[in-house]
Amino acid sequence: MIIGSGPAGYTAAIYASRANMSPVLYQGTQPGGQLTTTNEVENYPGYKDGVTGPEMMIEFQEQAKRFGTDIRDGWVTKVDFSGEIHKVWVNETKEIHCDTVIIATGASAKYLGLPSEQKYLQMGGGVSACAVCDGFFYRNQEVVIVGGGDSACEEAHYLSKLCKKVTMLVRRDEFRASKIMQARVKNTKNIEIMYNTLTEEVLGDGQVVTGVKVKNKISGKVTEIPATGFFVAIGHKPNTDIFKDFLELDETGYIINVPGTSKTNIEGVFVSGDAADHVYRQAVTAAGTGCMAALDAERYLAAKDANFEVSTSTYN
Ligand SMILES: Cc1cc2nc3c(=O)[nH]c(=O)nc-3n(C[C@H](O)[C@H](O)[C@H](O)COP(=O)(O)OP(=O)(O)OC[C@H]3O[C@@H](n4cnc5c(N)ncnc54)[C@H](O)[C@@H]3O)c2cc1C
Repeated sequence: MIIGSGPAGYTAAIYASRANMSPVLYQGTQPGGQLTTTNEVENYPGYKDGVTGPEMMIEFQEQAKRFGTDIRDGWVTKVDFSGEIHKVWVNETKEIHCDTVIIATGASAKYLGLPSEQKYLQMGGGVSACAVCDGFFYRNQEVVIVGGGDSACEEAHYLSKLCKKVTMLVRRDEFRASKIMQARVKNTKNIEIMYNTLTEEVLGDGQVVTGVKVKNKISGKVTEIPATGFFVAIGHKPNTDIFKDFLELDETGYIINVPGTSKTNIEGVFVSGDAADHVYRQAVTAAGTGCMAALDAERYLAAKDANFEVSTSTYN
């Protein structure tokens, strides 16, 4: 059973179906995963001219289908990993028993929730939660990034190498980030840091972002910053709540895997993609770990079969 239909889930499905493991894949409420919300993917190897996220994910799906993956609609609402057979409930009613489970439920970027932010996000007009994915589109332009943690500092620093100017909006009077990450942004000439600053509105011409209206929490002063890109770096939420009674999660909710593998603390349950990755969060790394999960599952099943054969021949 594979839970999730992003790059991790479909890659696991391609490997598992080619290994005759008869995978069943549940797509969840976002068939194709996070990439279906982006117009341009330019960094996935093999697409030399770039590709839209939805097109790319249809190709992943078709490839998984070609080898016989059973792709189904449905949302996994509950699991029970307490026994040797893993139990999974779909849409609260359908109970499925599986030998192995590959979790590929991804993560969701957090946004501020401002109507103007959501408007330009939906339109693909200059709002992004991924500097590594979208920074390239803002080369030599001025951008704004909101956030005060390690990720925000890392993304601001990444953008500073591509963009003319990066304005960083920090809600409090100091960073939450580690000292070393703070030093990195503070020592970068084209990053301007604005503390005690709240985002009031993402400004635009109806099609694309043209600036950001901000307010100083202390003075109440409102300023408009010209910018063509608005990056949100206030964290991600992994989609792992349903696993928390059985799997080890870190403090943010990412599933903890055995380093260098896709194994979790439960035998026969494997994890891939953004559900276990708070560092890279890219389609290609998700696909890579999807491959690892299918291979780990295959080896797990082979070892189980071998043990079964040994024990039955002993008793016969
Ligand atoms: C706007 C945007 C642009 C991006 N651009 C790029 C880019 O250009 N290049 C790049 O490499 N990366 C990019 N990324 C990052 C990339 O999309 C992710 O790293 C990647 O999609 C993670 O893949 P995943 O398979 O782990 O999970 P996801 O793509 O998050 O997919 C998760 C899947 O799990 C399903 N699911 C979740 N919970 C359940 C459940 N309970 N039951 C059943 N199904 C469930 C969902 O329906 C979904 O299908 C971008 C991300 C965003 C948001």
